[in-house]
Amino acid sequence: MSKIKVVENILHTNDEITSQNKRLLNEKGIYVINMMSSPGSGKTSLLERVILKLKDNVRIAVIEGDLYTTKDAERIEAQGVPVVQINTGGACHLDGKMIKGALDSLNLDNVDLLVIENVGNLVCPAAFELGEDIKITVLSTPEGNDKPLKYPRMFENSGAVILNKLDLLEFTNFNKVEFYQDINSLNAHAIIFETSCVREQDQGVEELCTWIRQQINNK
Ligand code: MG
Ligand code: ZN
Repeated sequence: MSKIKVVENILHTNDEITSQNKRLLNEKGIYVINMMSSPGSGKTSLLERVILKLKDNVRIAVIEGDLYTTKDAERIEAQGVPVVQINTGGACHLDGKMIKGALDSLNLDNVDLLVIENVGNLVCPAAFELGEDIKITVLSTPEGNDKPLKYPRMFENSGAVILNKLDLLEFTNFNKVEFYQDINSLNAHAIIFETSCVREQDQGVEELCTWIRQQINNK
């Protein structure tokens, strides 16, 4: 057998595993969010806020993708929800095989919402299906409003886009008008939320949670 055939088989297997993951998650009626962004956009802080608001009424589990550490998983665990850490060992995105390993160690009978926090990276996570119902991309104001056009695939593939760190807007040259225009031109169907997770006065998280509850109920 040639080496090329072996590679083809590996890719095939990975697609198959993602389909199996999706079938299993659908059977269990679990709504799955694949959360993506560049490093430092505030994904984990936002997730902490969302868990705090939803956990009394929604059974949540989290898969944390990280290059090397368990720092984010420890923060999620402190919220009292089941969390599985995937250390990619340097790989810059999650794939179906990694998700399968994580699903095997969760009790899926007790989950309504599964959030997968992808590895911080605006490029290749957009190309890897994980069996999710929706991709959500988080962009923070200090990153600049030019990012959607510079990294279009992630924004094109997302059902929702979250503009985070709204509290820092006044200290940046982020242009919200251009941001909305660019998202609209890339992906007119994306719903856009504006959030801030600063202690005590979070903004937009309640609206985001209301929408997530609707998505879970509609599944
Ligand atoms: Mg994080
Ligand atoms: Zn990658």
